Amino acid sequence: MHEATLAARMLQIAQAAAADRQGRVRAVTAVIGDMAGVMTDSLVFAFDALKKNTPLHGAQLKIERQRVLVCCRGCGAEYAPPGFPFVCPQCGGREFRIVRGEEIYVKNLEVEEDVRDH
Ligand SMILES: [Zn+2]
Repeated sequence: MHEATLAARMLQIAQAAAADRQGRVRAVTAVIGDMAGVMTDSLVFAFDALKKNTPLHGAQLKIERQRVLVCCRGCGAEYAPPGFPFVCPQCGGREFRIVRGEEIYVKNLEVEEDVRDH
């Protein structure tokens, strides 16, 4: 299951970062491209299931969707297709390469520093 693997990796990244900064992770912000083939709901569900009984149990996964941007192979125009099929608004071409929209990465971590009185 793709989403569970992704969620596990995001938890690993967050855990490593939290250990470095000696704090608790409050939130993980992930960027998911619209063409990445990831079901956002499944990812959040897997994240919430996997974080139980880990130091990250209080962390919330926030998702930012990245819209698709493609480049026409015919004329080189870049456009954000409103939907399928992708047709170039300049030349009507249907050949394209994806510029943006396939990415999956952790963009930001909110870490709460451990504040202790000594
Ligand atoms: Zn074109």
